[in-house]
Amino acid sequence: MSSKKVKEIFDKKIFRGEIKFDQSMSAYTSLKIGGPVEAMVFPDDVVSLKNVLIEAKKESIPIFVLGAGTNLLVRDSGIDGIAVCLKAFKRIEVIQNINGIAGRFFSKEVLGTSAGFFVEAGVPLGSLINFAKKNGYSGIEALAGIPGTFGGAVYMNAGSFGVEIKDVIISIALMNMDGRIEILEKDRFKFSYRSLNISGDNIIISANIILKKDIPENVSARITEFLKRKKSSQPIDGYSAGCVFKNPEGDFAGRLIEASGCKGMRAGDAEVSSAHANYFVNKGKATGRDFIELMETVKRRVNEQSGVTLEPEIKIIGKDG
Ligand SMILES: Cc1cc2nc3c(=O)[nH]c(=O)nc-3n(C[C@H](O)[C@H](O)[C@H](O)COP(=O)(O)OP(=O)(O)OC[C@H]3O[C@@H](n4cnc5c(N)ncnc54)[C@H](O)[C@@H]3O)c2cc1C
Repeated sequence: MSSKKVKEIFDKKIFRGEIKFDQSMSAYTSLKIGGPVEAMVFPDDVVSLKNVLIEAKKESIPIFVLGAGTNLLVRDSGIDGIAVCLKAFKRIEVIQNINGIAGRFFSKEVLGTSAGFFVEAGVPLGSLINFAKKNGYSGIEALAGIPGTFGGAVYMNAGSFGVEIKDVIISIALMNMDGRIEILEKDRFKFSYRSLNISGDNIIISANIILKKDIPENVSARITEFLKRKKSSQPIDGYSAGCVFKNPEGDFAGRLIEASGCKGMRAGDAEVSSAHANYFVNKGKATGRDFIELMETVKRRVNEQSGVTLEPEIKIIGKDG
C-alpha cells in the first residue's frame, strides 16, 4: 500500500502528469515479473520531475527511474517509494549549430557531413532509429531491434554488432535529486560495456548526439539487414529482458551457458531459452525468486565447467523477501 507520505506529495498539486498508486512492477517490465511499487509517475515536464524529486528528498522517499523496463528484473517484494518513468519526454530536435555544445568543437569536415540532435530520455530507441532512417542519418543502424528508451540505452550504453550508443553521444543532461540540471560533455563520463558511470542520484533527461548524413535508402537497407540478423537469434517463446549475463572478455556468455548444458533448464516458470542460451524467458508465471534461482544455478554450473564467473547484465532491483 502506498504510504501517506507518498500520497501527500501529489496532494500538493506540484505535479503535472499521470500518477498511478499501488502498481505492480510486472506491468512495467518486459519480463512481466516484479512486486509492488507505491507510486508510478509519468511527469509531463521537467518542472514536474524536479518538484517530485525535491518533495521526495524532503521526506526521504526513495526514487527509482525506469525507461521501458526491458533490462530489469524486479524482486517479488517490490520497491519502496516512487518509480518515475519519463515516457512523456519524447522530443527529437535538430541542433542548428552543434559547435560549442558543452564545450565541444568539431572540424569543418565533420560539420559538413554530420548533424546534431537533441534527444529526450523517453524517446523509444526504435523511434530514434526510424527518424534517422526517414531523414537519412547514419550511426545507429546496428542498434535497430534493441527495445527500450533512449535514456535507458544511454544508462546501459546499449550496443549491438560492435556499435554502442556512446559512439554518437556529444553530451548528456542530468538532473540530480535536488532538481538541478547539468549538461556535461561526453568526456566527463566513463562508458564501458553495458554501463555508464553515473550514480543513482542522477536522472538522464536528454542527450545530444551526432549522426552522419547519408542517403535514406542506404540507411534503411542497413537497418533491415541488422534487424534480420537480430531477429534470427532472439527467442520468441516467452517474456525476456534480453541478455541476462555480460559477455566475458573474449567469449560469449551464451556459448558458455550452452556448453555447461544449461539450455532449457528451468526454475519454476523461468527457463533458459532454447533459442539463445543467454536469454532467460518467463514462460508465464515466473517469479523474481524463480529467475534469480535460475541465474544462480547457471552461474554456478558455468563456473564449475569453465572457471568463468558470469556477471549479470540485467539490473536486479527491489526488496528481498
Ligand atoms: C528482446 C530484447 C533484446 C535486447 N537486445 C539488446 C541488445 O542487443 N543490446 C543491448 O545493449 N541491450 C539489449 N536489450 C536490453 C535492453 O533493451 C537495453 O538495455 C535497453 O537500452 C534498456 O532500456 P530501457 O528503457 O528499457 O531501460 P530500463 O530497463 O527501464 O532500465 C535499465 C536501467 O537504466 C536505468 N535508467 C533508465 N532510464 C534512465 C534515465 N532516464 N536516467 C537514469 N537511469 C535510467 C534504470 O534505472 C535501470 O537501471 C534487449 C532487451 C530485450 C527484451
